[in-house]
Amino acid sequence: MQPRKILVVDDSKLIHKMFEVLLRQYSLVHCLDGLEALQALGNHADIDLILLDINMPRMSGLEFLNQIKADNFFKEIPVVIISTEGKEEDTVRGLEAGAAAYIKKPFGNQELLEVIQRL
Ligand SMILES: [Mg+2]
Repeated sequence: MQPRKILVVDDSKLIHKMFEVLLRQYSLVHCLDGLEALQALGNHADIDLILLDINMPRMSGLEFLNQIKADNFFKEIPVVIISTEGKEEDTVRGLEAGAAAYIKKPFGNQELLEVIQRL
């Protein structure tokens, strides 16, 4: 069986490196902002889950989320918001915009894996 494919959207290169180690059993697609992520969705029809940062240059996580939720095909992909502590309003807006779950930075490895497996 092919590994499940996860789109990681975050402007922090460190986060991408951490996820490479933590999520070894998955196939990861890496993007640094929402615009890049929209292109990646067009190139990978088989994304199973999206891990989404909020604060990013060019296109924020919330803008990206609103765009894919307006798309009949992409709106079915579960989105997990990776939010910075103290930015609760972003998380609330993300959940209102259709995110399936959120994880607060700094997060525990186990917490992250559980949320991904659940979705
Ligand atoms: Mg960021």
